[in-house]
Amino acid sequence: MPAQLIEGKKIANKIKDHLKEEIESLKRKGELPSLSAIQVGENPGSKVYVRAQKRSCESIGIEYNLHQFNEDVTQEDMLNFIQKLNRDPKVSGIILQMPLPSNLNARALQRIIDPKKDAEGISPTNMGEVVYGRPVLGPCTAMAIMEIINSLKINLYGKEAVMVGHSDIVGKPTALLLLDKFVTTSVCHIATGERGSLPSYVRNAEILIVAVGKANLIKGEWIKDGAIVIDVGINRVEGKIVGDVEFEAAKEKASYITPVPGGVGPVTTAMLLKNTVEAAKMQANG
Ligand code: NAP
Repeated sequence: MPAQLIEGKKIANKIKDHLKEEIESLKRKGELPSLSAIQVGENPGSKVYVRAQKRSCESIGIEYNLHQFNEDVTQEDMLNFIQKLNRDPKVSGIILQMPLPSNLNARALQRIIDPKKDAEGISPTNMGEVVYGRPVLGPCTAMAIMEIINSLKINLYGKEAVMVGHSDIVGKPTALLLLDKFVTTSVCHIATGERGSLPSYVRNAEILIVAVGKANLIKGEWIKDGAIVIDVGINRVEGKIVGDVEFEAAKEKASYITPVPGGVGPVTTAMLLKNTVEAAKMQANG
């Protein structure tokens, strides 16, 4: 039987409905959650994200402010601007849009965002909370993956998971969040692929999560019968957006699978909104 599709939009809408209620309650106390986005230069991909973020924020009552800078902005000017947003009581959350021009040190800029305003949940403090198993403003995509898994209401205890991709913002925190649920988690990366061991890891995965950015890297025939497949990858192939997993073939073997687009993406956006509301609540409570 083909896999059941995991509809990211439905999960996202449920989260957003809950957030709307929280925003109403904040507004009654005179607080307006707001997200400040910083964009440098003219990256077309980043422009699309910014438009989508603005739409999503405004659809549930979060104020969205975009701050645009030219490519020649200096690191010092950017640091000063972020510090200004950190101090501004009207700013609940801050997001630094990627990519940044090569003259800017993205990590250094992300590090100085106040952890209480870190809407993406990627500051060292917020990542540290993931290690301790109590994310407050957690990394959005990793938190979205956990929301998706939780929506399936399966017993995770003792399950075998494979996380393909070990990036700082997706693969590593997702592996830690799974570990915290007593899931036995293997993490694969470029060296696993080079050694030729990727298929054997995938074949054993009851839960497979792939965040690499290479179309069709994971062959459908590798998928374990009945596996849960979460495809985070976003790749443009012949004008179409596809994931990292051979979707049609994988669908025949998995029990649940996320489509691309329409799977992890909408839930990641919902987690950005959730972090912004959480940030506003923390600031309202001092
Ligand atoms: P990233 O920082 O480029 O990380 C990619 C990871 O894949 C790295 O750990 C890399 O290992 C590993 N890798 C590369 N080739 C491999 C191979 N042949 N076999 C196994 N592992 C391999 O990317 P990211 O930020 O995590 O994003 C990954 C993908 O998810 C991208 O397509 C991105 O657009 C997408 N994404 C989607 C969402 C969403 O909301 N849907 C959110 C975030 C990201 P090395 O570092 O060792 O090379």
